[in-house]
Amino acid sequence: MSPRVAATPAKAGTTRPKATARKKPTRRKPDPVRQWASYLARYRPGLQRYVLDALTQTYGEQIWEPRLDPTSELILTILTQNTADVNAEKAYEALRLAYPSEREAEVHRPGIGWGGEGLSTAPPPDWSRVEFAPLPELIDVIRPGGLGPQKAPRLQATLRRIREERGDYSLLFLGDLPALEARDWLTSIDGVGKKTASIVLAFCFGTPLMAVDRHVERVSKRIGLLPAKATADQAHELFLGILEPDDMYAAHVLLIHHGRVICHAQRPLHDLCPVRDRCRFVNPKAT
Ligand code: SF4
Repeated sequence: MSPRVAATPAKAGTTRPKATARKKPTRRKPDPVRQWASYLARYRPGLQRYVLDALTQTYGEQIWEPRLDPTSELILTILTQNTADVNAEKAYEALRLAYPSEREAEVHRPGIGWGGEGLSTAPPPDWSRVEFAPLPELIDVIRPGGLGPQKAPRLQATLRRIREERGDYSLLFLGDLPALEARDWLTSIDGVGKKTASIVLAFCFGTPLMAVDRHVERVSKRIGLLPAKATADQAHELFLGILEPDDMYAAHVLLIHHGRVICHAQRPLHDLCPVRDRCRFVNPKAT
């Protein structure tokens, strides 16, 4: 038996050196975007391509072209919040009539992702007159589009913020910024979320961002492109991890259109659906 070594007592007045605390290995938090992309690649390989190809075959190829000037697009998109696109059109046309400008006529190229009839070809409103209009007057002007009392102050605050920061109302500078920087600039405006910002950037500059509205979210969750519990905010990031940058514009337009014409919230038309074979809503084991 080996003799026990007695611990040497510390000398009076000295302190025993502390044992070095062992550092716990720090665990890096898993990145949910990468995790979801790996899950899809492993268990549902090729799903994104399959969905985009099937929807393209059904609804046609979606070629990007600029839709409106970015300031007009931003104001129009704010007018669409919580209301149908046709109502936003009414409010926008009312702005043009009440606050006409001398600028060149703008041509609205709405495409199949837009739920309204398209704006007439006319100059955009005079943004300065909109910003400085008496609030009750502006509320009355946009009332035909609904939610006038909420949206009129939002429009004025948005225009004020752009003018104060940029010196005029142009948002063309956003096209020169990296995608996420441009999105951050827009979402720093009160009342502008990731969806509105992504619409403006994707439609005006072709920036590779995915705008997730209620149609895109519903269809994608049903198919299984997004996890069922993802919030709309998370969905914007998840799409950036699972789609090729060049596919984002088409994916947005095709999914939104599919949600409007076939994959309705109530009574979706599964029998007419081109992605039925891989949709988890009709077959929870679909790969
Ligand atoms: S199969 Fe049905 S639920 Fe799935 S995407 Fe098509 S319409 Fe929607």
